[in-house]
Amino acid sequence: MRKPIIAGNWKMNNTASEGAALVSALKPLVKDAKCDVVVCVPAIDIPAVKKALRGSKIKLGAQNVHYAEKGAFTGEISADMLKEYGVQYVIIGHSERRQYFGETDETVNKRTLAALAAGLTPIVCIGESLEEREGGLTEKVLSAQIEKDFAGIDDFSKIVVAYEPIWAIGTGRTATDEQANETIGFIRKRMKKVYAGKRVGKMRIQYGGSMNAKNCKGLMAQPEIDGGLIGGASLKAADFAAIVNFDK
Ligand code: PEP
Repeated sequence: MRKPIIAGNWKMNNTASEGAALVSALKPLVKDAKCDVVVCVPAIDIPAVKKALRGSKIKLGAQNVHYAEKGAFTGEISADMLKEYGVQYVIIGHSERRQYFGETDETVNKRTLAALAAGLTPIVCIGESLEEREGGLTEKVLSAQIEKDFAGIDDFSKIVVAYEPIWAIGTGRTATDEQANETIGFIRKRMKKVYAGKRVGKMRIQYGGSMNAKNCKGLMAQPEIDGGLIGGASLKAADFAAIVNFDK
């Protein structure tokens, strides 16, 4: 079966010392976790957080990666640079990057392939806007993202998908358990069709969007949901630990 994966997305929060303090507080709280636990931290926090994570099974993640191996891309960070620092996961195509930083399905695809080539596990975010959901376009939008963002991947067991309805991110408005389960079920079915024979059945799909200590149990009980990508609630050790320990 697919092992659940709970990942924190700190976004642009926590200086290096604050990040180190947060993971130091988190470590004892999640030491018996049955799921994979990841913290995706600002790039400049990586060295300090890596050091603070010593002796724990919590994995280190980044929030973005460039698709080129190296070169004239001021301000960007390559997959090899992350890899050399012990980073294992990287969020790609978060809706905030699509909205504020010009990320497109094409660049999401290129970044995903670059991350895989370097041996990183991409956490690729897809999801619809409120307007699209209310207009009955959710499946159409997701199908287009599925075809473009994942083109060229040979082994889907090596990636994680985060289904993040944009209207649920940072809004306090969570998808219902049934909505999230149904949409993730659709994503899996569609990807199995488009990428037949490429181990899609082994790929984990998280839900993301205002997931917290209160609603995580209901969401995680859904058969299609393999984990969560957590923004706001990953910034406090006790809140994040409560989600990681959803099965206790
Ligand atoms: C996110 O940023 O991926 C996210 C899901 O944020 P939040 O949990 O705050 O809605």
